[in-house]
Amino acid sequence: MTDRCPECAAELPKDATWVCPTCGYTLHTPAVSKVGIFFMLLGVAAVLGYVVGPDNLGLTSGAIPTQIADFMVANFPLLIIGAFGFGMFLMFVGALFVRSQRNKVAAGV
Ligand SMILES: [Zn+2]
Repeated sequence: MTDRCPECAAELPKDATWVCPTCGYTLHTPAVSKVGIFFMLLGVAAVLGYVVGPDNLGLTSGAIPTQIADFMVANFPLLIIGAFGFGMFLMFVGALFVRSQRNKVAAGV
C-alpha cells in the first residue's frame, strides 16, 4: 500500500515524512507546532480568565501556593503575553522546521 499526498495525489516515497516531494505539501504538523498551538489556546483561556477577573478564578482558593496565586493575579497581563508569545515562538520554530525539510526535499537530499 502506497501513501498518497492529500494535496496533489502523488505517490509518496517512504522517506517523505514531513513534506510531499512533488508539491511541498506539509504532511505532518511538527510536535513543536502543536505545543505552540496549545500555548496559544492557553493564552486565549488566560484572556477569558482576565475578562472574568483573575480574582474570581479561584487561584487563591488554596489549590496552589498563595504566593504563586498572588504572583499570577498581579502579573496576569504578563502571563497572557507570555503564553501567546511562547506559543507563537514554538509555531515559528515548527514552520522553520517544515521549511528546512522542504528545502532538503527540493535539494534532493
Ligand atoms: Zn503533493
